[in-house]
Amino acid sequence: MIHIDKALELQQAVEKVRNEGKTIGLVPTMGALHEGHLSLIGRALQQNDTVVVSIFVNPIQFNNKEDLEKYPRTIEADLQLIEQYERDCVDRKAQALYVFTPTVAEMYPQPVTDTYHFGAIEEVMEGPQRPGHFSGVAVVVRRLFDLAQPHRAYFGQKDYQQIAVIRELLRQIKYDIDIVECPIVRADDGLALSSRNARLSAAARQAAPAIYDTLQQAVEMAEYEEVDDVKQWVMETLAAYHQMNPLPDGLCFEPEYFEIVDALTLQPIGQWADASNGAVGCIAVWLDGVRLIDMVRFDETLK
Ligand code: AMP
Repeated sequence: MIHIDKALELQQAVEKVRNEGKTIGLVPTMGALHEGHLSLIGRALQQNDTVVVSIFVNPIQFNNKEDLEKYPRTIEADLQLIEQYERDCVDRKAQALYVFTPTVAEMYPQPVTDTYHFGAIEEVMEGPQRPGHFSGVAVVVRRLFDLAQPHRAYFGQKDYQQIAVIRELLRQIKYDIDIVECPIVRADDGLALSSRNARLSAAARQAAPAIYDTLQQAVEMAEYEEVDDVKQWVMETLAAYHQMNPLPDGLCFEPEYFEIVDALTLQPIGQWADASNGAVGCIAVWLDGVRLIDMVRFDETLK
Protein backbone atom coordinates (compact mmCIF):
# COMPACT_ATOMS: atom_id res chain seq x y z
CA MET A 1 0.00 0.00 0.00
CA ILE A 2 1.30 3.42 -0.91
CA HIS A 3 -0.25 6.37 0.92
CA ILE A 4 -0.51 9.60 -1.09
CA ASP A 5 -2.11 12.84 -0.02
CA LYS A 6 -1.09 15.14 -2.87
CA ALA A 7 -3.03 15.27 -6.14
CA LEU A 8 0.14 15.79 -8.19
CA GLU A 9 1.78 12.67 -6.74
CA LEU A 10 -1.29 10.62 -7.61
CA GLN A 11 -1.33 12.02 -11.15
CA GLN A 12 2.35 11.15 -11.64
CA ALA A 13 1.85 7.63 -10.32
CA VAL A 14 -1.14 6.87 -12.55
CA GLU A 15 0.50 8.40 -15.59
CA LYS A 16 3.33 5.90 -15.23
CA VAL A 17 0.84 3.03 -14.88
CA ARG A 18 -1.09 4.22 -17.95
CA ASN A 19 2.11 4.55 -20.00
CA GLU A 20 2.93 0.94 -19.20
CA GLY A 21 -0.44 -0.06 -20.68
CA LYS A 22 -1.75 -1.26 -17.34
CA THR A 23 -5.29 -0.95 -15.98
CA ILE A 24 -6.44 1.17 -13.06
CA GLY A 25 -9.43 0.57 -10.77
CA LEU A 26 -10.77 3.40 -8.59
CA VAL A 27 -12.70 2.93 -5.35
CA PRO A 28 -14.02 6.27 -4.05
CA THR A 29 -14.90 6.30 -0.33
CA MET A 30 -15.44 8.71 2.52
CA GLY A 31 -13.53 6.51 4.98
CA ALA A 32 -14.55 4.94 8.30
CA LEU A 33 -14.04 1.78 6.29
CA HIS A 34 -15.90 -1.48 6.87
CA GLU A 35 -16.40 -4.80 5.08
CA GLY A 36 -18.65 -3.13 2.51
CA HIS A 37 -15.81 -0.88 1.36
CA LEU A 38 -13.37 -3.80 1.51
CA SER A 39 -15.61 -5.82 -0.83
CA LEU A 40 -15.25 -3.04 -3.43
CA ILE A 41 -11.49 -2.90 -2.89
CA GLY A 42 -11.33 -6.71 -3.22
CA ARG A 43 -13.16 -6.64 -6.57
CA ALA A 44 -10.87 -3.85 -7.78
CA LEU A 45 -7.74 -5.78 -6.74
CA GLN A 46 -8.97 -8.82 -8.69
CA GLN A 47 -9.74 -6.95 -11.89
CA ASN A 48 -6.99 -4.31 -12.32
CA ASP A 49 -3.21 -3.95 -12.37
CA THR A 50 -3.33 -0.94 -10.07
CA VAL A 51 -5.97 0.14 -7.59
CA VAL A 52 -6.58 3.62 -6.22
CA VAL A 53 -8.72 3.92 -3.08
CA SER A 54 -9.67 7.47 -2.21
CA ILE A 55 -10.70 8.52 1.28
CA PHE A 56 -12.25 11.97 1.30
CA VAL A 57 -15.20 13.33 3.25
CA ASN A 58 -16.57 15.55 0.51
CA PRO A 59 -18.08 18.65 2.16
CA ILE A 60 -20.02 19.77 -0.92
CA GLN A 61 -22.19 16.65 -1.00
CA PHE A 62 -23.50 17.23 2.53
CA ASN A 63 -26.64 19.31 2.68
CA ASN A 64 -26.75 18.91 6.47
CA LYS A 65 -23.99 20.66 8.44
CA GLU A 66 -24.40 18.44 11.49
CA ASP A 67 -24.10 15.28 9.38
CA LEU A 68 -20.85 16.59 7.91
CA GLU A 69 -19.44 17.51 11.31
CA LYS A 70 -20.42 14.18 12.85
CA TYR A 71 -19.28 12.07 9.93
CA PRO A 72 -16.74 9.60 11.40
CA ARG A 73 -13.12 10.25 10.42
CA THR A 74 -10.80 7.35 11.27
CA ILE A 75 -7.99 7.73 8.77
CA GLU A 76 -5.26 5.88 10.72
CA ALA A 77 -7.52 2.88 11.36
CA ASP A 78 -8.60 2.97 7.68
CA LEU A 79 -5.00 2.83 6.47
CA GLN A 80 -4.25 -0.08 8.79
CA LEU A 81 -7.37 -1.92 7.65
CA ILE A 82 -6.47 -1.54 3.97
CA GLU A 83 -2.89 -2.59 4.59
CA GLN A 84 -3.99 -5.71 6.44
CA TYR A 85 -6.65 -6.48 3.83
CA GLU A 86 -4.16 -6.14 1.00
CA ARG A 87 -1.70 -8.41 2.80
CA ASP A 88 -4.36 -11.09 3.34
CA CYS A 89 -5.90 -10.80 -0.13
CA VAL A 90 -4.64 -13.80 -2.08
CA ASP A 91 -7.02 -13.67 -5.01
CA ARG A 92 -5.65 -10.55 -6.69
CA LYS A 93 -4.22 -9.29 -9.92
CA ALA A 94 -3.15 -5.82 -8.80
CA GLN A 95 0.51 -5.23 -8.06
CA ALA A 96 0.02 -1.77 -6.61
CA LEU A 97 -2.52 -0.19 -4.28
CA TYR A 98 -2.55 3.55 -3.73
CA VAL A 99 -4.59 5.14 -0.97
CA PHE A 100 -5.29 8.79 -1.72
CA THR A 101 -6.29 10.95 1.27
CA PRO A 102 -6.42 14.58 0.13
CA THR A 103 -7.41 17.53 2.30
CA VAL A 104 -10.31 19.72 1.18
CA ALA A 105 -7.82 22.37 -0.03
CA GLU A 106 -5.93 19.75 -2.02
CA MET A 107 -9.11 18.48 -3.65
CA TYR A 108 -10.61 21.93 -4.28
CA PRO A 109 -7.79 24.47 -4.66
CA GLN A 110 -10.33 26.84 -6.24
CA PRO A 111 -13.88 27.46 -5.01
CA VAL A 112 -16.21 24.95 -6.66
CA THR A 113 -18.50 26.58 -9.19
CA ASP A 114 -19.59 23.54 -11.24
CA THR A 115 -23.08 22.19 -10.85
CA TYR A 116 -24.58 19.13 -12.47
CA HIS A 117 -28.17 18.28 -13.25
CA PHE A 118 -29.45 14.78 -13.77
CA GLY A 119 -33.10 15.35 -14.64
CA ALA A 120 -35.66 12.72 -13.68
CA ILE A 121 -33.06 10.48 -12.00
CA GLU A 122 -32.51 13.01 -9.25
CA GLU A 123 -36.09 14.14 -8.89
CA VAL A 124 -36.96 11.12 -6.73
CA MET A 125 -35.87 9.64 -3.39
CA GLU A 126 -32.57 11.17 -2.23
CA GLY A 127 -32.82 14.07 -4.69
CA PRO A 128 -35.64 16.12 -3.12
CA GLN A 129 -34.49 15.21 0.41
CA ARG A 130 -30.90 16.32 -0.16
CA PRO A 131 -30.77 19.35 -2.47
CA GLY A 132 -27.38 19.71 -4.14
CA HIS A 133 -26.20 16.32 -2.93
CA PHE A 134 -25.83 14.61 -6.29
CA SER A 135 -24.21 17.63 -7.88
CA GLY A 136 -21.65 17.56 -5.05
CA VAL A 137 -21.12 13.83 -5.61
CA ALA A 138 -20.65 14.42 -9.34
CA VAL A 139 -18.08 17.16 -8.76
CA VAL A 140 -15.94 14.99 -6.50
CA VAL A 141 -16.29 11.84 -8.61
CA ARG A 142 -15.35 13.71 -11.78
CA ARG A 143 -12.33 15.21 -10.01
CA LEU A 144 -11.31 11.73 -8.84
CA PHE A 145 -11.77 10.38 -12.38
CA ASP A 146 -9.53 13.18 -13.69
CA LEU A 147 -6.83 12.50 -11.10
CA ALA A 148 -6.88 8.70 -11.04
CA GLN A 149 -7.65 8.11 -14.76
CA PRO A 150 -9.37 4.79 -14.00
CA HIS A 151 -10.51 2.15 -16.49
CA ARG A 152 -13.04 0.91 -13.93
CA ALA A 153 -14.70 2.52 -10.92
CA TYR A 154 -16.38 0.60 -8.11
CA PHE A 155 -19.60 1.63 -6.40
CA GLY A 156 -21.88 -0.12 -3.90
CA GLN A 157 -25.56 -0.81 -4.55
CA LYS A 158 -26.36 0.48 -1.08
CA ASP A 159 -26.21 3.93 -2.67
CA TYR A 160 -28.37 2.70 -5.50
CA GLN A 161 -29.44 6.07 -6.88
CA GLN A 162 -25.84 7.27 -6.79
CA ILE A 163 -24.87 4.59 -9.32
CA ALA A 164 -27.55 5.82 -11.73
CA VAL A 165 -26.29 9.37 -11.26
CA ILE A 166 -22.68 8.34 -11.97
CA ARG A 167 -23.77 6.50 -15.12
CA GLU A 168 -25.59 9.64 -16.27
CA LEU A 169 -22.53 11.75 -15.38
CA LEU A 170 -20.38 9.53 -17.61
CA ARG A 171 -22.88 9.97 -20.45
CA GLN A 172 -22.75 13.75 -20.00
CA ILE A 173 -18.97 14.11 -19.80
CA LYS A 174 -18.29 11.26 -22.27
CA TYR A 175 -15.67 9.45 -20.18
CA ASP A 176 -15.07 5.83 -21.06
CA ILE A 177 -15.01 4.21 -17.61
CA ASP A 178 -16.64 0.89 -16.63
CA ILE A 179 -18.85 1.19 -13.58
CA VAL A 180 -18.70 -1.96 -11.47
CA GLU A 181 -21.75 -2.32 -9.22
CA CYS A 182 -21.11 -4.25 -6.01
CA PRO A 183 -23.80 -5.88 -3.84
CA ILE A 184 -24.62 -4.65 -0.34
CA VAL A 185 -22.57 -6.21 2.46
CA ARG A 186 -24.67 -6.70 5.59
CA ALA A 187 -23.98 -7.44 9.23
CA ASP A 188 -25.06 -10.93 10.39
CA ASP A 189 -28.35 -9.47 11.61
CA GLY A 190 -29.10 -7.97 8.18
CA LEU A 191 -28.29 -4.31 8.77
CA ALA A 192 -26.53 -2.83 5.73
CA LEU A 193 -23.01 -1.88 6.80
CA SER A 194 -22.52 1.88 6.84
CA SER A 195 -19.98 4.25 8.32
CA ARG A 196 -22.91 6.01 10.00
CA ASN A 197 -23.87 2.85 11.96
CA ALA A 198 -21.03 3.69 14.37
CA ARG A 199 -23.10 6.67 15.54
CA LEU A 200 -26.04 4.52 16.67
CA SER A 201 -26.54 3.92 20.40
CA ALA A 202 -26.47 0.28 21.51
CA ALA A 203 -30.30 0.18 21.67
CA ALA A 204 -30.66 1.76 18.24
CA ARG A 205 -28.10 -0.60 16.74
CA GLN A 206 -30.07 -3.51 18.16
CA ALA A 207 -33.31 -2.24 16.63
CA ALA A 208 -31.83 -1.20 13.27
CA PRO A 209 -32.08 -4.62 11.54
CA ALA A 210 -35.86 -4.05 11.51
CA ILE A 211 -35.25 -1.94 8.40
CA TYR A 212 -34.00 -4.87 6.33
CA ASP A 213 -36.52 -7.26 7.94
CA THR A 214 -39.30 -4.95 6.81
CA LEU A 215 -37.85 -4.71 3.30
CA GLN A 216 -37.65 -8.48 3.04
CA GLN A 217 -41.28 -8.81 4.10
CA ALA A 218 -42.15 -6.21 1.47
CA VAL A 219 -40.50 -8.39 -1.16
CA GLU A 220 -42.70 -11.31 -0.10
CA MET A 221 -45.81 -9.12 -0.16
CA ALA A 222 -45.09 -8.11 -3.75
CA GLU A 223 -46.38 -11.50 -4.84
CA TYR A 224 -49.96 -10.62 -3.92
CA GLU A 225 -50.15 -6.88 -3.07
CA GLU A 226 -50.24 -3.76 -5.23
CA VAL A 227 -47.21 -1.45 -5.36
CA ASP A 228 -48.88 1.37 -3.43
CA ASP A 229 -50.06 -0.98 -0.69
CA VAL A 230 -46.56 -2.37 -0.21
CA LYS A 231 -45.12 1.15 -0.06
CA GLN A 232 -47.66 2.26 2.51
CA TRP A 233 -47.17 -0.89 4.60
CA VAL A 234 -43.39 -0.38 4.80
CA MET A 235 -43.74 3.26 5.89
CA GLU A 236 -46.42 2.46 8.46
CA THR A 237 -44.71 -0.63 9.84
CA LEU A 238 -41.47 1.20 10.57
CA ALA A 239 -43.20 4.30 11.90
CA ALA A 240 -45.21 2.15 14.34
CA TYR A 241 -42.32 -0.15 15.28
CA HIS A 242 -41.79 1.45 18.69
CA GLN A 243 -45.44 0.83 19.60
CA MET A 244 -45.13 -2.90 18.96
CA ASN A 245 -41.61 -3.49 20.27
CA PRO A 246 -39.82 -2.56 23.48
CA LEU A 247 -37.55 0.39 22.69
CA PRO A 248 -36.05 2.91 25.13
CA ASP A 249 -38.13 6.07 25.59
CA GLY A 250 -38.10 8.35 22.58
CA LEU A 251 -36.34 5.90 20.27
CA CYS A 252 -38.31 5.28 17.08
CA PHE A 253 -37.92 4.82 13.34
CA GLU A 254 -38.81 7.84 11.25
CA PRO A 255 -39.02 6.65 7.65
CA GLU A 256 -38.29 9.52 5.26
CA TYR A 257 -39.25 7.73 2.05
CA PHE A 258 -39.74 4.26 0.70
CA GLU A 259 -40.02 4.22 -3.06
CA ILE A 260 -40.40 1.38 -5.52
CA VAL A 261 -38.78 2.26 -8.81
CA ASP A 262 -37.67 0.82 -12.14
CA ALA A 263 -34.16 -0.55 -11.60
CA LEU A 264 -32.63 1.45 -14.47
CA THR A 265 -34.72 4.57 -14.98
CA LEU A 266 -35.33 5.00 -11.21
CA GLN A 267 -38.82 6.22 -11.99
CA PRO A 268 -41.51 5.24 -9.47
CA ILE A 269 -43.81 2.50 -10.74
CA GLY A 270 -47.57 2.27 -10.26
CA GLN A 271 -47.88 -1.42 -11.21
CA TRP A 272 -45.33 -4.21 -10.89
CA ALA A 273 -45.58 -4.76 -14.65
CA ASP A 274 -44.35 -1.17 -15.24
CA ALA A 275 -40.85 -2.09 -14.08
CA SER A 276 -39.51 -3.30 -17.40
CA ASN A 277 -35.95 -3.40 -16.05
CA GLY A 278 -36.91 -4.98 -12.74
CA ALA A 279 -38.14 -3.25 -9.59
CA VAL A 280 -36.09 -2.06 -6.63
CA GLY A 281 -37.23 -0.61 -3.33
CA CYS A 282 -35.12 2.15 -1.81
CA ILE A 283 -35.56 3.50 1.70
CA ALA A 284 -34.20 6.25 3.95
CA VAL A 285 -34.98 6.06 7.66
CA TRP A 286 -33.97 8.20 10.60
CA LEU A 287 -33.08 6.33 13.77
CA ASP A 288 -31.46 7.87 16.83
CA GLY A 289 -30.50 11.02 14.88
CA VAL A 290 -28.78 8.96 12.16
CA ARG A 291 -30.03 8.71 8.59
CA LEU A 292 -29.81 5.14 7.28
CA ILE A 293 -30.46 3.97 3.72
CA ASP A 294 -31.01 0.52 2.26
CA MET A 295 -32.49 -1.17 -0.79
CA VAL A 296 -33.93 -4.49 -2.02
CA ARG A 297 -34.69 -6.01 -5.39
CA PHE A 298 -38.15 -7.34 -6.11
CA ASP A 299 -37.13 -9.25 -9.24
CA GLU A 300 -37.18 -12.78 -7.81
CA THR A 301 -40.70 -12.48 -6.38
CA LEU A 302 -42.08 -10.96 -9.54
CA LYS A 303 -40.74 -13.63 -11.92
P1 AMP B 1 -19.07 5.86 1.41
O1 AMP B 1 -17.74 5.81 2.08
O2 AMP B 1 -20.23 5.63 2.33
O3 AMP B 1 -19.22 7.05 0.51
O4 AMP B 1 -19.11 4.60 0.45
C1 AMP B 1 -18.11 4.40 -0.53
C2 AMP B 1 -18.57 3.31 -1.45
O5 AMP B 1 -18.78 2.10 -0.69
C3 AMP B 1 -19.90 3.65 -2.12
O6 AMP B 1 -19.85 3.21 -3.48
C4 AMP B 1 -20.89 2.84 -1.32
O7 AMP B 1 -22.05 2.49 -2.04
C5 AMP B 1 -20.07 1.62 -0.96
N1 AMP B 1 -20.63 0.96 0.22
C6 AMP B 1 -20.92 1.55 1.41
N2 AMP B 1 -21.48 0.66 2.25
C7 AMP B 1 -21.57 -0.52 1.57
C8 AMP B 1 -22.06 -1.81 1.87
N3 AMP B 1 -22.60 -2.10 3.05
N4 AMP B 1 -21.97 -2.77 0.94
C9 AMP B 1 -21.42 -2.50 -0.29
N5 AMP B 1 -20.94 -1.29 -0.64
C10 AMP B 1 -21.01 -0.31 0.27
